[in-house]
Amino acid sequence: MIIKSADFICSNTQISKLPPPLKPEYAFIGRSNVGKSSLINMLTQKKGLAKTSQTPGKTQLINHFLVNENWYIVDLPGYGYARISKSKKEDWNKFIRTYLDKRESLQCVMVLIDSRLEPQKIDLEFCNWLGEKGLPFVTVFTKADKQSSIKTDQNIAKFRKALLASFEEAPQHFITSSENLLGRDEVLNFIDNINQS
Ligand code: GDP
Repeated sequence: MIIKSADFICSNTQISKLPPPLKPEYAFIGRSNVGKSSLINMLTQKKGLAKTSQTPGKTQLINHFLVNENWYIVDLPGYGYARISKSKKEDWNKFIRTYLDKRESLQCVMVLIDSRLEPQKIDLEFCNWLGEKGLPFVTVFTKADKQSSIKTDQNIAKFRKALLASFEEAPQHFITSSENLLGRDEVLNFIDNINQS
């Protein structure tokens, strides 16, 4: 897919104020610092479209970016901040889970996972919740340039194996680097195929 345009449309703190669900959307989510903003900027090739390194615990926003005027990248707040209060975590849960569960134009959840890490409980729990809700998702292993491809493959294999405790088969996965465009074509083609179908 060629990206002709990518524009910020709106930030929301309320589900009721989201844009009308008339175009396919793809939600990007992961632990804070996983590289989500960098990945969105890399996919769209628009520096600064998504704001990188946001302060943990600040206002939880759902950001909509319209791509090629016909589909949305939805930037969801990161999860897993160590230092935010329990009540803020609960707010996060309610807000995001309502969005994911109820959004009729949502095509697929792109779950970002740091490829340098061994499987993390919070990521596995989130994938399991998506599975329980029957929400389509794929895993996107980020920051692959930071270590050898052998190490990346080992971590991915462990993550996929851990998912098999709950799923009959592990979901499709992508390996990306925002530094060197690794995985860009694959992720965009995946989205393009769904948009065309
Ligand atoms: P977010 O909090 O998930 O939006 O994460 P950011 O996109 O702000 O990235 C967090 C940090 O990781 C920043 O310092 C980025 O420069 C760095 N980073 C993100 N993606 C990559 C990547 O693919 N490769 C490398 N080497 N660094 C990355």
